[in-house]
Amino acid sequence: MTAPSTAPGHELPFDLVGVGIGPFNLSLAALADGVPGFRSLFLDAKPAFSWHPGLLMEGTTLQVPFLADLVTMADPTSPWSYLNYIRCHDRMFKFFFSERFHIPRREYDHYCRWVAERLASCRFDARVTALEWDENANAFAVVYRCADGDRTRVLARQVVLGVGTDPVVPEPLRPLLSDAHTGRVLHSADYRAHRARLAAADDVTVVGAGQSGAEVALDLLRTQDGNGQGGPYVRWLARTAAFAPMEYSKIGLEHFTPDYTSYFRHLPEAAREHLVREQWQLYKGVSEETLGQMYDELYERTIGGGEPRAALQPGVELVEARADGDGYLLTCRNRQQDSLFEIRTCAVVSATGYAASRPAFLDGIGDMVDWDGKGRYQVDGQYRVALDPRVSGALYVQNAETHTHGVGAPDLTLGAWRAATILNAAAGRTVLPLSPRQAFTTFGVPRAQESAVPTAVSPATSAPAGTGR
Ligand SMILES: Cc1cc2nc3c(=O)[nH]c(=O)nc-3n(C[C@H](O)[C@H](O)[C@H](O)COP(=O)(O)OP(=O)(O)OC[C@H]3O[C@@H](n4cnc5c(N)ncnc54)[C@H](O)[C@@H]3O)c2cc1C
Repeated sequence: MTAPSTAPGHELPFDLVGVGIGPFNLSLAALADGVPGFRSLFLDAKPAFSWHPGLLMEGTTLQVPFLADLVTMADPTSPWSYLNYIRCHDRMFKFFFSERFHIPRREYDHYCRWVAERLASCRFDARVTALEWDENANAFAVVYRCADGDRTRVLARQVVLGVGTDPVVPEPLRPLLSDAHTGRVLHSADYRAHRARLAAADDVTVVGAGQSGAEVALDLLRTQDGNGQGGPYVRWLARTAAFAPMEYSKIGLEHFTPDYTSYFRHLPEAAREHLVREQWQLYKGVSEETLGQMYDELYERTIGGGEPRAALQPGVELVEARADGDGYLLTCRNRQQDSLFEIRTCAVVSATGYAASRPAFLDGIGDMVDWDGKGRYQVDGQYRVALDPRVSGALYVQNAETHTHGVGAPDLTLGAWRAATILNAAAGRTVLPLSPRQAFTTFGVPRAQESAVPTAVSPATSAPAGTGR
């Protein structure tokens, strides 16, 4: 194999090279745009920006307000805001009258693409294949490959990983993903590519009671007509004891603030792990709106005495799965009753989430990363990964730090704030001022001032007796 070439004009190290251009590194690229003297480059393997294309269904919306765009929560004056995107597309009045806080997911994808196409620092069709520490250059060497096979090497004083997460499929289904039935056992990340085939099946089982599972089950249900005819029989299985709504109370959402992130980061590891498991409803539930739509769809089917061609089964764990004739035989366990039962189905959509994994291109510096006892990054308050002291450059991560920073790591709410934190650290100065105190909730032991009992309450403003609860 020939040595990778150095990109002309790029012999000097970049201040920052980003691997991956999902929303999180795109946010960093947008915030870094125009920062005087700061040279950055962002690389993505895809031919162009696209955001979870397998689940970009009509009618689905972002689960966070549009203000959680790429920049606004850190820099509302940025030209890369969602509102400026709307203005540049001459849709200001339409957006205003639509009164939408939660914008269509397809629109969020289009907005991000609009930004990515305009930032000179973003390069697509560039798969990073190796990351090494070049002692002579005192910089990271990042090697990337284009679709035509050309390999390029650039130097970077600092690198930020924003490579996203990988689909997770339950163990019993894994062997079926690649058998002759391909296309009928799949992860929800590939749903849209197989939608037509699934809609034509007699019966589809959706496994997983998160937002993706709900959206897939609802979408399949809607391929039936109003009387429940046509389309597949839809079975929706949840391991959890209930099809639970995602926490969306105002105070509950304060878990997605810098205050909570900072509190969480300083807890002992055992407490952090316990909390992430316990807080599943902050990131794994279904939006109340989608649950309502599912219910309304089922209700429609009962008009005139009909029965929905659907089954909703919580508390069910998939134990075994095997090909059976034209379809599949699933052995399931009701977790509360501890009893087994079987399901025959034509197709299975595994909407069972995503997990961070260690990218192969890191092998070149694998022994320089100070992994924790479970082989994960140790991430500090500036999102820097702990490295061997021989490495003078910094390596940052985005969306691989739930174990150190809590449930906000994959959430778009904190994306711009985290990107601005990294930008300030990478630039070595405050490019964007950030206040760490944003929540009303006091997380942890109160500081002296907060714990002091308030003194006199003026009689004129105190509540009359008997009105409190
Ligand atoms: C369907 C869906 C809907 C979601 N909706 C919401 C929501 O409404 N609100 C919310 O808060 N969160 C949401 N999330 C969670 C989260 O915000 C998203 O998953 C988000 O896309 C994560 O962004 P990311 O930048 O970490 O990764 P990704 O968007 O996964 O992007 C990673 C990028 O890295 C690239 N890459 C990987 N390896 C390499 C390599 N070696 N070289 C070059 N490029 C590489 C990939 O091509 C990809 O483009 C959703 C998640 C899903 C799956």
